[in-house]
Amino acid sequence: MGSQPEDKAVFDTESGKEMVKELRASFVAGKTKSYEWKVSQLKAMLKMMEENEAQIIFALRDDLSKPELESSIYEIGMLKNSCRLALKEMKHWMKPEKAKTSLTTFPSTAEIVSEPLGVVLVISAWNYPFLLSLDPVVGAIAAGNAIVLKPSELAPATSSLLAKLIADYLDGSCIKVVEGAVPETTALLEQKWDKIFYTGNGRVARIVMAAAAKHLTPVVLELGGKSPVIVDSDIDLKVATRRIIAGKWGCNNGQACISPDYIITTKDYAVKLVDSFKCELEKFYGKNPLESKDLSRIVNSNHFDRLLKLLDEDKISSKIVHGGERDETNLKIAPTILLDVPKNSLIMKEEIFGPLLPIIMVDKLEGSFDVIKSLGGKPLAAYLFTNKTKLKAKFVAEVSAGGLVVNDTTVHLAEHNLPFGGVGDSGMGSYHGKFSFDAFSHKKAVLYRSFGGDSSLRYPPYTRGKLRL
Ligand code: NAD
Repeated sequence: MGSQPEDKAVFDTESGKEMVKELRASFVAGKTKSYEWKVSQLKAMLKMMEENEAQIIFALRDDLSKPELESSIYEIGMLKNSCRLALKEMKHWMKPEKAKTSLTTFPSTAEIVSEPLGVVLVISAWNYPFLLSLDPVVGAIAAGNAIVLKPSELAPATSSLLAKLIADYLDGSCIKVVEGAVPETTALLEQKWDKIFYTGNGRVARIVMAAAAKHLTPVVLELGGKSPVIVDSDIDLKVATRRIIAGKWGCNNGQACISPDYIITTKDYAVKLVDSFKCELEKFYGKNPLESKDLSRIVNSNHFDRLLKLLDEDKISSKIVHGGERDETNLKIAPTILLDVPKNSLIMKEEIFGPLLPIIMVDKLEGSFDVIKSLGGKPLAAYLFTNKTKLKAKFVAEVSAGGLVVNDTTVHLAEHNLPFGGVGDSGMGSYHGKFSFDAFSHKKAVLYRSFGGDSSLRYPPYTRGKLRL
């Protein structure tokens, strides 16, 4: 795991240089800019999914024991939606946008023209290894760029399948896949790109951004963070519980960037909430969730050990009120809830990215906003369950996060009319729907003037008399 398969040549800086040279030649020749080329590639991607769905599901099961339905809906289904939307709307997205003009440039007309950036690099993560690799690629194709995709080495089955399928279905002179880990990514990052789109953790994001800075390359950084869920007591408890479970354990067993990381609720409501979780979790995953086929495993032993370290910290283990079981052989951890977790514990200091869900108790729900701020950083998502209009307004006004959802979790990701991305520590830039097209386009300002209305004010001699005109 983590290295280039033996039968393939080593991918080094020189290989990166050659690859970018070839792609730039295709881009400069205008191959990727035509509407017809874009349509052909997006249709080919759809065909690729239609003809290989079983193989994709198999690879995801191999990498993460991802349940078939999760793979079908959240990886393949969502990517199909992105392709179909781009095919339907692309012509409209590509059209120059009329802009108003002012007295300063009178008489004139203006428009904003979207142009592709050039040759772009997409580096993706292991947790949704199919969707996170190809969703940005859809935007990059729609905008008319040549593309290199570097999937995550931590999902090796999906990575090698992507390399094969993309070579088989898409235009290899404009879209390429490089498999590999740090050495290969480093070789890629040494090249000059017109945009780098990175999904992953903040530590590597800093490496990506530093490499991009050398070439003044713009970046989109899709990162993570501790996404809180505030739970009020005036809610439909059953619906709220089920929606939190779906966003947490139903999303790759908590290994999702917008999964609920922790809950904040009032002291007098916490026990009721925990009871509701116990009841619904048993309905979904049975009495022995370690045997459930509806829960993904932890991706590898490093992440498994990392999660156990959070769970087994001295002051934390006594806080487990549900779950806690683990199966080291199969890298499984049961849905686990911890109640009344101290804010200075390890589990509250880093993004959990797994099936552990701590609950923090406050005297009054309004105190939740201070808890979120005190943990530092701006999360990728924040959720609130309430029926109170004033509390909703306060939540929207006071909580800074990539995205907010009231009375549900994670579903904003599927709303293509909303931008998806982080702020501060959770990232920069956004994508999905038209925002993906915009992420890979330059918005060129174009002003059209005629030869009339030529004011003498602009030209020397600069006399006082002209100022009084
Ligand atoms: P990962 O380990 O797969 O790494 C991501 C990519 O970075 C991989 O392609 C990897 O090869 C590359 N990489 C790793 N080390 C590198 C280095 N030293 N130099 C250059 N490249 C390197 O994934 P991860 O970082 O463990 O992903 C989990 C994180 O990603 C979490 O924080 C999660 O919240 C975040 N995430 C965010 C989103 C989003 O859309 N915002 C989606 C998924 C995951």
